[in-house]
Amino acid sequence: MRYVSTRGNDKGVTAKEAIIRGLAQDGGLYVPEAIPNLDRPLEALLKLPYTALAQAILRPFLDFSETELATCVEKAYSSGRFTHPKIAPVVTPLKNTDNSGTMNENIHFLELFHGPTLAFKDMALSILPHLMKASASKQELIILTATSGDTGKAALEAFCDVEGVSIVVFYPESGVSNMQKRQMVTQEGNNTYVFGVKGNFDDAQTGVKKIFSDPALAKDMAQVGKMFSSANSINIGRLLPQIVYYFYAYGQLAQKGSLKVGDEINFVVPTGNFGNILAGYYAKEMGLPIRKLICASNDNKVLYDFFRTGEYDKNRAFHCTISPSMDILVSSNLERLLFHATDTKSVQEMMGDLASQGRFETQVNMPDFYGIHTSEEETCQAIFECAKKGYVMDPHTAVAYHAGQRYIEETGDITPQIVISTASPYKFSEDVLKALNVDWEYAGNDKDMAAVQALSETSDLVVPEAVVQLANQPVRHTIVCPVEDMTRVLVSKII
Ligand SMILES: *Cc1c(COP(=O)(O)O)cnc(C)c1O
Repeated sequence: MRYVSTRGNDKGVTAKEAIIRGLAQDGGLYVPEAIPNLDRPLEALLKLPYTALAQAILRPFLDFSETELATCVEKAYSSGRFTHPKIAPVVTPLKNTDNSGTMNENIHFLELFHGPTLAFKDMALSILPHLMKASASKQELIILTATSGDTGKAALEAFCDVEGVSIVVFYPESGVSNMQKRQMVTQEGNNTYVFGVKGNFDDAQTGVKKIFSDPALAKDMAQVGKMFSSANSINIGRLLPQIVYYFYAYGQLAQKGSLKVGDEINFVVPTGNFGNILAGYYAKEMGLPIRKLICASNDNKVLYDFFRTGEYDKNRAFHCTISPSMDILVSSNLERLLFHATDTKSVQEMMGDLASQGRFETQVNMPDFYGIHTSEEETCQAIFECAKKGYVMDPHTAVAYHAGQRYIEETGDITPQIVISTASPYKFSEDVLKALNVDWEYAGNDKDMAAVQALSETSDLVVPEAVVQLANQPVRHTIVCPVEDMTRVLVSKII
């Protein structure tokens, strides 16, 4: 399997090369030349436990030996990093406490937050360092990452003290939740660097892309035997491992008897950079019977507008919402979908327009996707309503849950839904408490931990160990810089 750039000016490379480089040399993203078919009947595949399934799905995408692949998968998913025995359980929690409908049994949640940092980024970032190490030449890698909140911590955890690698994270200083920030600035390890940026996520992401495409800097780095790579979802090594849990979720429902193998399912995905939902698209292309991929946006509804009108326009106000990991106006991975739906020439034109005018248009239909937008008020209502029925959701998951309900209203399509549950409510305790209308007070100076305590008293959710530990962790990373200084700060610390 070769990987080509979405923009067409990078001759095919192997998976290992694509994983190490992160971004293609022409500024495009690496995509598999073709999406492979399953190596065995769906029914057989769905019976596999997570690690065996991951190997079966990843094998055709990667030029790794059997042992290399098995080692990567084992280290990521069976070393106790995930606290749930199923890694990514599907739960069907909603009790019908009113007579409002028959659809509740048809709404399932795929929980992707049982990893070390309590958000779905752990699913792919737990394996990425191992894929990179298996791919790396002798160069020392500097992993550069822009984060809207969750990627940063998951990357720091994943790469912490990995030999021959440094991990650098830029986060928007006032664009992440308290808990997210706290998780990052307390990060331990001798190879971890965390910088606040005075700007939003898009500024941080643009800054990182600029560092990547700075030829002079790359030369300086090469001279000292170092090389940049990316842990963002622009790296194909982030994307591929996410395909696995779409199959795994479907398999769990089949095993429970909630569906027969071959029945259609809809996935509702809380979307920001379009990485998670794109993995769902790959799963569908590989043969998983997905009817629709429902793309749920918060108030930064640039993708909703795109799926409705064919026009992508980032020239608009940026909203800081209670689902900060989706506060994104430039969804990088959409470029990959555009490539699959059109061709390199069209992608070049669209990305050119996006760079010069901040907008582009396409007439191409994308029938696999359906866009919905959830307001802040609707997000809070969704948290409140679901909690009454017995399930406490984080705000990102709530954006998706609401979108799934709205989708049924708009289309009448009652195909069972799997809502992707992307974060633990404890990562966003204050906002969840507010949505639940809970009055809570705190004494002392640790408001975040008091909120965690209050949420644990209102819900019957166990407080994850990773949150408990944060209470006593000292702050280790304090640098905050303007966007223009990102390169300078990086160079002064790393090179
Ligand atoms: C990153 C993230 C998202 C958005 O996922 P994308 O792959 O960027 O679309 C949604 N929810 C949470 C909690 C996240 O961390």
